[in-house]
Amino acid sequence: PQNNAHRDKKGDDHSHWRYGGAPPWPQVSPACAGRFQSPVDIRPELTAFCPALRRLELLGFELPPQPELRLRNNGHTVQLSLPPGLEMALGPGQEYRALQLHLHWGAAGRPGSEHTVGGHRFPAEIHVVHLSTAFAKADEALGRPGGLAVLAAFLQEGPEENSAYEQLLSHLGEIAEEDSETWVPGLDVSALLPSDLSRYFRYEGSLTTPPCAQGVIWTVFNQTVKLSAKQLHALSDSLWGPDDSQLQLNFRATQPLNGRIIEASFPAGVDSSPGTDEPVHLNSCLAAGDILALVFGLLFAVTSIAFLVQMRRQQRHPSGTKGSVSYHPAEVTETVA
Ligand SMILES: [Zn+2]
Repeated sequence: PQNNAHRDKKGDDHSHWRYGGAPPWPQVSPACAGRFQSPVDIRPELTAFCPALRRLELLGFELPPQPELRLRNNGHTVQLSLPPGLEMALGPGQEYRALQLHLHWGAAGRPGSEHTVGGHRFPAEIHVVHLSTAFAKADEALGRPGGLAVLAAFLQEGPEENSAYEQLLSHLGEIAEEDSETWVPGLDVSALLPSDLSRYFRYEGSLTTPPCAQGVIWTVFNQTVKLSAKQLHALSDSLWGPDDSQLQLNFRATQPLNGRIIEASFPAGVDSSPGTDEPVHLNSCLAAGDILALVFGLLFAVTSIAFLVQMRRQQRHPSGTKGSVSYHPAEVTETVA
C-alpha cells in the first residue's frame, strides 16, 4: 500500500544501500570493509575491567514540549532530530553534543539489536549519536578518532508500557511511508536510556550504516530498557521501507574485533557468567597515563637500586676507593750543601 514514486530523488551518495541485499556495502563506501567496524559481539568474560570509566554525564536532555522535534522514516530507521543543547561527557575533556537518535529492530518473534552479548541478540536497540565539541559539523568528524560517540542501549520486553517510548511510538502511524516525517512534542531524551549510566561497555568502532566511518566511540549500557510486548510489536510492524517492503530487521551483522579489547566500567566477567565458578580476567585495563606512571616508577626503582649498590661499595672500602692507589707524601731529602 506504500507509494515509492519519490524513491529516485534521494539526497546524498550514501543513501543507495539496503539491509541484506545488493550492492555490497564496501561498494557504497570503502570504509565499510575497514578493520574496526561496528556492531560487535560483546563477550563479557573477555572484556577489560577499567575502574577509570566513570558514570556518564548528561546535561540538558530533558526537553520541553515546545519546540517540537522532527521524527522521520528515512527508509532505514525512524530517526528523531535533536535540538542544540544536549550535552554529554564521556570523561573529563571529552565533551559531545547529541545530534539525533534512532532505533534498530527485528520482526515478529525475531530480535533485531545490532550489538549482541555473548551471542545473544536483544529485541531492539537505541542509538543516540553525538558529535565532539571539537567539530562544528558531523561531516568534519567522520573518520576522526573520537569525532563521533554513540550511546547504545538494548530494548527488552517488560510487563509495563514505557511512557517515554510511547511518546515516539504513538506517532509511527503518521510516518508509515518511506521518506515521510512528522513533528512530535519535545520529551525527556534521557528517559529513553537506562537509569544506570555507570555500568557500560566501551570500544572504538564505526557507524553501522554506510558510510561506516571509523573512529566512533561506542558506549553500550549494561542495563536494558523495558518496553511492553505491544510497544515492541508497534516498533517492528508500523513502518515501510524500500520496494514496498516492511521496514524490519534493520541491523547489521556483527563485525570481527580484529584485536580490539572491549573495556567495561564494571567487572563484567564476574557476575555475567553464573555457570563458571572462577571468573578469569584475561585483560587488565591500562590507560596511557597508567603506562607512563609505570615507566617512571620502574626508572625510579632502578635508579634507587643503583644508588644503594654504590653506597654499599663505598662502605666496604672506606679509605680510598680506587684499589691500591693511595697517597704517600713525597719524602723530603735533605741535601747538605
Ligand atoms: Zn544505529
